[in-house]
Amino acid sequence: MRAALQQAQEAASEGEIPIGAVVVCNDRIIGVGHNMTERLDDPTAHAEMIALTSACNAIGGKYLNDCTLYVTVEPCPMCAAALNWAQLGRLVYGAADPKRGYSLYEPSLLHPRTQVTALCTASCSTQPDARPDLWPASQPEAASSLATDSSRAASLADECSRLVSDFFAARR
Ligand SMILES: [Zn+2]
Repeated sequence: MRAALQQAQEAASEGEIPIGAVVVCNDRIIGVGHNMTERLDDPTAHAEMIALTSACNAIGGKYLNDCTLYVTVEPCPMCAAALNWAQLGRLVYGAADPKRGYSLYEPSLLHPRTQVTALCTASCSTQPDARPDLWPASQPEAASSLATDSSRAASLADECSRLVSDFFAARR
């Protein structure tokens, strides 16, 4: 997740919405990406899409069953569907996105075998004032079940969401 955060910071320095992603396979980073929608004038150039494409190029295949994608913010429905096509093994995301996140949709847009770990839910979402009762009934696996301790997970997720909220605050 640290590497994904670095990607997000790179996006911010380029004036892009600061979201970053990395794909890890066998303890190696095989794909990285950050949001590039402004630079490419491409609304589909999300961090996850770019990391996914670079990972598939790296392994020479279109399936990522044994890989984990770390992304700083909950993926949107488009990216979730793309990760479904790749049959992603595991998804780990930092900040929740209660407005545009894929988890607003049921049944899940992800592949049925994709495991999901949300480092944080309502308390460190990109919409801090979002009402908790707007959250979908089925929450992803809680941060506490992560191997890392949950307070560390929450502070990472805070960092992920702070990047985005600072970015928008600076623009207002
Ligand atoms: Zn997306």
